[in-house]
Amino acid sequence: MKVISVSDRFSSHPEEKVITISRVSSANCPFSYFKSYIEKPKPKPPFETIEIGIGSFFHSYVENIFKIISSEDRSIADSDIIDIDELVSDFKLAFIWDSKLIKPYKIIKNNTNIEYYITRLIGFGKNFNKFLKNSLVNHTVFDVEGDLEIETEKYIIRGKYDLTTKNPNGDLILWDWKTGQAPNPRYIKDLKVKKLQLGIYAIWMAHKYPENKIRGTVVFLRGELAQLTEVFSESIEQEVLTYLFKWREKINKLEKYIPMKSGLCPWCAWKSTCPAWK
Ligand code: SF4
Repeated sequence: MKVISVSDRFSSHPEEKVITISRVSSANCPFSYFKSYIEKPKPKPPFETIEIGIGSFFHSYVENIFKIISSEDRSIADSDIIDIDELVSDFKLAFIWDSKLIKPYKIIKNNTNIEYYITRLIGFGKNFNKFLKNSLVNHTVFDVEGDLEIETEKYIIRGKYDLTTKNPNGDLILWDWKTGQAPNPRYIKDLKVKKLQLGIYAIWMAHKYPENKIRGTVVFLRGELAQLTEVFSESIEQEVLTYLFKWREKINKLEKYIPMKSGLCPWCAWKSTCPAWK
């Protein structure tokens, strides 16, 4: 299994050739995978959860900070931390209209309200500030928010990253923030998906910048601040590619997309059309 080339742009390929971590996660329930990636014309989910909305908002907020640092052509400093009051005020301006949450966002979790999610947003901001001070000061911004594509002999692997930086030793680090919690070690599937994601990052970076030492790191901002990290090696490359190729081959052979109920069903945007819930 060989990497042929890497690119920072997505090219067009049929579904059966494409591998992404979102597809791998979604295919835990084949019906959800069908709705998200196979059905044509592509259906629009009837709503988005507030968790998705708050995650997208936080990502674009942070992206803007690093774009400013990059445009000023300087290293990241302690003072680049988020102003929490401003973060909350920007969120309210964008998401609350006429005292209600703007569509298509919806609160799914019982016994929660918008204040609950604002408190969660404040937690992301505080954790991000701690992370920036501990891990990013004196790094230079290499790139902000980008697409990555790996062309292999059989399949195309795609992903997105939030930031790449160079540390004072000249090592390159690719960062991805998650507004979720770090996977619980008891949930092996979640850990495996994170490892695959980090592996994809590390492979892409290692082929794009072969002269540098490469690391891919996911930062979890909900609850207790946590990081999972992976350094590139040829054995990681083979492990990740072998797993992903087998996954794609198995999915390509599916003839029926049967729903698989799980604890994620209450959050699933396809629940209203899902045969398992009729
Ligand atoms: S509601 Fe549950 S079973 Fe139905 S598509 Fe979503 S995840 Fe699958």
